[in-house]
Order: sequence, then C-alpha cells, then structure tokens
Amino acid sequence: MQNSQRTPGVVPGRLDQATYRQNFDDLHAPLDTHEARVAADRCYFCYDAPCTTACPTAIDIPMFIRQIQTGDPDSAARTIFDQNILGGMCARVCPTETLCEEACVRQVAEGNPVEIGQLQRYATDHLMAQDPHPYSRGAPTGCKVAVVGAGPAGLACAHRLAMRGHSVVVFDAREKAGGLNEFGIAAYKAPNSFAAAEVEWLLGIGGIEMRYGQRLGEGLSLEELQEAFDAVFLGMGLAGVNALRVEGEEHAHVRDAVDFIAELRQADDLSVLPVGRDVVVIGGGMTAVDAAIQSKLLGAEHVTMVYRRGRDRLSASTFEQELATAKGVKIVLNAQPVAFNSDDGKTVSSVTFAYTEDGPTGLVASEETFTIKADQVFKAIGQALSGVPGVLETEGGKIVVSDSGRTSIEGVWAGGDCASGGDDLTVTAVANGRDAAEDIHMALTGVTAVAAE
Ligand SMILES: Cc1cc2nc3c(=O)[nH]c(=O)nc-3n(C[C@H](O)[C@H](O)[C@H](O)COP(=O)(O)OP(=O)(O)OC[C@H]3O[C@@H](n4cnc5c(N)ncnc54)[C@H](O)[C@@H]3O)c2cc1C
Ligand code: SF4
Repeated sequence: MQNSQRTPGVVPGRLDQATYRQNFDDLHAPLDTHEARVAADRCYFCYDAPCTTACPTAIDIPMFIRQIQTGDPDSAARTIFDQNILGGMCARVCPTETLCEEACVRQVAEGNPVEIGQLQRYATDHLMAQDPHPYSRGAPTGCKVAVVGAGPAGLACAHRLAMRGHSVVVFDAREKAGGLNEFGIAAYKAPNSFAAAEVEWLLGIGGIEMRYGQRLGEGLSLEELQEAFDAVFLGMGLAGVNALRVEGEEHAHVRDAVDFIAELRQADDLSVLPVGRDVVVIGGGMTAVDAAIQSKLLGAEHVTMVYRRGRDRLSASTFEQELATAKGVKIVLNAQPVAFNSDDGKTVSSVTFAYTEDGPTGLVASEETFTIKADQVFKAIGQALSGVPGVLETEGGKIVVSDSGRTSIEGVWAGGDCASGGDDLTVTAVANGRDAAEDIHMALTGVTAVAAE
C-alpha cells in the first residue's frame, strides 16, 4: 500500500501494483475437477427442479450437474449453451443467490445450496477452451436481420438467428462489442478480458457481421434498417443516465458512476485511474454498489454509499450489499442529497443530505440534514432509454414488447434492458434476445424452432 492512499483529492496510483492485482483478482476462484465433482455430488437431481424454474433462461440444471458428476463437462456445457449462449458470463455475474441457488432445495432445507453458478462456470470454461465453436450455422434461409446493440441481448439474438440460418448484421454505437459485459460489470467478476473472449468465441458460429461506431438515431435510422433487412431487433440497453438535479452538481469530480466504471473496465493499468480519498456514491442498485466497491479497491480511504430509501428497497442483492460492507463501504439509508458543496467554488468538497421517510404519499425529505466530506461523488441513480425511435410505443421508460419481444411496429423486435418486462440482468437480456430470435425465425419462415432443429 502506498502513502498516496492518504493524499487528499482525486489522484491516481494510491496503491502498489501487487495490491491492485490482488484487489481486482477473480471474485471466486474457479473449481477444479475434483471440487466440481464434489459440488455436483450434493445435487438431489430433483424432478421438476425449482432451480431450473428460477433460471430466466430455463437451463436444465440437474441435467448439466449430472453430466459433470459423470465426468462429461463438455456435454454439461452444451446443455447450458443450448439455452444460454452467454452461459460463461452468466456463471460469473448472475445473482444466483436470488435465482437458482435461492430456489435450490438444499438452500431451502439447509441454507447451503448446490454451487450452481460455480458448476456452470466449470463446465462452460471447459468447453470454451476448445476449438472449434460448438454450434454451426443453419442452412441459409436467404433472410437478413439487423440487430442494434452488441450487448447480451443483441449477441444472444444474433447467435440464435445464425443457428437458424439467417444472415445477421449487428450495429453498435461503440467500437467494441459486449455492452455492459465489457463496459459495466464489476472488473473482479470477469477478469482477464473474459467479455471480449466470449464475444469472439460466440462469433465463431459465422454469419454475423459486426459494424461498430453505428448509432441508431445518429446517421442510422430505423426506416433504413427496415428497408434493408427482413427484420430488426433492438437491444440497445439503457444508454442514457437519469438526472439528479441537485445544487452544485456541476462541480468538478461529481460524475456518473457508469462512466467511471466504463473507464475502469477499459483501463490496462489501474494505477493511472484517479480516485478520491473520500468518495460518496449516490444510489442503491448494482451500479452504486459496484462504483463503491471498486473505489475502495482502487484505494479510496472512505467510501459511503447513500440510498434514499430503506434496506428493503435496495435493488442490490444481499450478497452485493454484504460484499460492499466486507470491502469497507459504509451504507447509509433513508437519505437524499440536497447540495454538493465546494470550498473553492469549483471542486466538490462535501455533500449535504436530508433524511427521508417512505410514507403512504411517497418519499418525504425531512428538515434534518447531515453532511459527508467528499472529494469525489458518483451518481448511480439509474439509466434511461436513449436514441430510441419516437415511432415505437414506450411505457415507464422502456420499449413496450410482447412476451416474444414484438414491438408496436411490425417487423421490429426488442429485448434486454431497453424493453419492458425485464429485470435488468444479463441473464434476462440473453433470454429476451434468444426468444425474440426464435419468434423472428418463425415470422420469417413460418417454421417453429423445434421443427427447425
Ligand atoms: C454497473 C453495472 C453493473 C452490473 N452488474 C450486473 C451483474 O453483476 N449481474 C447482472 O446480471 N447484471 C448486471 N448489470 C445489468 C446488466 O449488465 C444488463 O442487464 C445487461 O447488460 C443488459 O443487456 P442489454 O444487451 O440489454 O444492454 P447493454 O449491455 O447495455 O448493451 C447495449 C448495447 O447497445 C449499444 N447501443 C446503445 N445505444 C445504441 C444506439 N443508439 N445505436 C447502436 N447501439 C447502441 C451499446 O453500445 C451496447 O453495446 C449491471 C449493470 C450495470 C450498469
Ligand atoms: S434444486 Fe438444488 S438439489 Fe435440486 S436439482 Fe436443483 S441444484 Fe440440484
């Protein structure tokens, strides 16, 4: 640990290289073959398994665990990828404690679930390490589909469309694919450039053309895509950020948490990333927790996450909250910012909060306030739709879609964070993209997925 940890202000290099490496190392070490067999042995192979029902992509969990148990991790991986082509990333980032592992009968009976996420990672890593890509393109249908957004939803959709024999062009505003897998997920959940490696592996199916630096709404229109393609899938995520509208928000070192996280994810050398000594994060979701934990791991001395409602309304999972606390993040509840203060008129020096109460008429801020010292503030109060064509019906900040992802415009589907009905998780985005692809296939060819196998 270096002395610069105690240096005031927002400075780079608070820690030595070894500490950065240690802090941002894999959150969970992968299981070896022996550990995987032992973990698999704990499964009861339940009939009508509740873990499978709890999985948004409906992976046949007892089946893949049985395949691991019998020493066949590659078949286990196929069972996973058949349902979820981003099963490798989902094994790393899924909040399993609120999905499959929460539903596991061993969790219900003993408070100790089968390690489903870790077993999924064991199997998918095993198969992904081999050549060639395990799926091949279907016989060409002659149909062309445009996919907007190369995040989990768009990639899952593109892969399934390629499997069904369609030609796919993926348009993404950025210069790199992966969406939030590449630019958002906490660095310690997917180290060693796993997101980029997974995209390359997925594209191994062929028939998917990637076009980067192409933003819908800026030189690329929905009408153009509808004219040039037989169908369009929108998987643009939530590229905008919600405004806070608090006095002093313009002060230096008050910024959006998603930008800080994206910078961190793209940094080759963490020692060049500036971080404050007293960091305040505003918000209660995954983005807030990730910004808070990663500030601490970059060497911030005091990190406080402040959320305007009570613990029951925090959208970050209990596991994420406990991880934050274990890393030294202080969580303050029932308070909202009323002013970002500055000693020099330019740079933030503290944040004043008002206590809140969640009453029957909504959130009420009290007269009682308190102030927290801050040289850096991250706003993580939610993302918003951006660049979505006005012709599409939206509700509550999302594109309205049917169960199979159909939007209000014929020939246009949507899924993932930008679409209604999801819960803003990687695995849900994958499920949406896959299901929309099957529906697009049916709409274009009249053949249902099962008949096409
Ligand atoms: C900080 C953070 C941490 C998270 N951690 C987790 C986690 O641990 N576990 C978990 O399950 N979920 C997590 N999530 C949520 C998860 O990342 C998202 O639910 C998931 O990525 C949504 O996938 P998507 O494909 O819908 O959108 P995105 O991943 O956002 O991808 C959208 C893609 O569309 C592109 N795009 C946007 N606008 C346009 C446009 N106009 N034209 C062309 N391209 C465009 C973007 O560049 C991007 O590549 C996290 C989210 C954040 C912000
Ligand atoms: S609920 Fe638990 S024990 Fe039952 S099949 Fe799923 S992982 Fe195995």
